[in-house]
Amino acid sequence: MKAPVQAPPPADAPAQDALAEVAAQLFVPLGVDGVYARSALYEDIVGRLSAYIDRQREPGAEVLRFPPVMSRAQLERSGYLKSFPNLLGCVCALHGTEAAISAAVQRFEDGGDWTTSLTSADLVLSPAACYPVYPLAAGRGPVPREGLLFDVAADCFRHEPSRALDRLQSFRMREYVRIGAPQDIRAFREQWMQRAQRLAEELALPSRLDVASDPFFGRVGQVMAVSQLQMSLKFELLIPYQPAARPTACMSFNYHMEHFGDVWGLRDAAGQVCHTGCVAFGMDRLAVALFCNHGLRPQGWPAAVRRALSL
Ligand code: 5GP
Ligand code: ZN
Repeated sequence: MKAPVQAPPPADAPAQDALAEVAAQLFVPLGVDGVYARSALYEDIVGRLSAYIDRQREPGAEVLRFPPVMSRAQLERSGYLKSFPNLLGCVCALHGTEAAISAAVQRFEDGGDWTTSLTSADLVLSPAACYPVYPLAAGRGPVPREGLLFDVAADCFRHEPSRALDRLQSFRMREYVRIGAPQDIRAFREQWMQRAQRLAEELALPSRLDVASDPFFGRVGQVMAVSQLQMSLKFELLIPYQPAARPTACMSFNYHMEHFGDVWGLRDAAGQVCHTGCVAFGMDRLAVALFCNHGLRPQGWPAAVRRALSL
């Protein structure tokens, strides 16, 4: 039986029904929780949202589109295993000799477990769009005085199976990433926090900005989360899918301080370590937010929203 896509809790029964109806029009279950085929109706809006975000791009931003996989070594060096080892998906393959690979396949044919022959490849599934940017920028030499700005996107994976409409294992992330002097990163993030609220207004989405923490792994992770909160390193734009529902984080505004600068040797011409920050758009969460708030007929959405999305 196909697993239904569920609404985020808590919501009352009629609200749940309404969200189930939305889910049925947008997503087709593929047999694994949090992994869905997307309908034409949905993809059309994701595309228009993407073009809308293109139009917010500042001059000088370098556009890069990443594949859904990235270097395992780079992600390891970024410190991901210390923070979110439980969320990581690693690419594995059958690396053995022809005889060993044939034996694994034969085991499968015989009803056994072929996966015990898998070993990790040098790739992981990207857990966020911005990780490959920092080593790439560092490889180009000193960071110019005015800093760097990137516009990146990737299909991201996080291993947290769920039937909730706002918790996918495979989702699209778009990011603007800034590398430079601390005050420039702070200003970039501040400007985007203001701008994001205006964009939400233009899209007629109720929103609230709040300080946030990442779901760091384990007991040590709890300490990291508290420190992140205390230092206000992360903010999120929260949008409810329904009036009384717990809101969903649809965008995040992150200040990494010198973390990636230290890891990758990102320095300016004077040898100062650069700071970095990123603003992430959860494309799938934003698209679902539009459908949940405005209904399943984009032609009937408020005029300002239709204008913004060229509908
Ligand atoms: P962050 O790195 O801040 O956790 O994620 C950036 C953005 O990606 C979030 O604000 C959110 O919009 C989106 N995102 C994170 N996790 C998920 C998820 O499980 N499902 C979906 N659809 N989007 C997610
Ligand atoms: Zn990022």
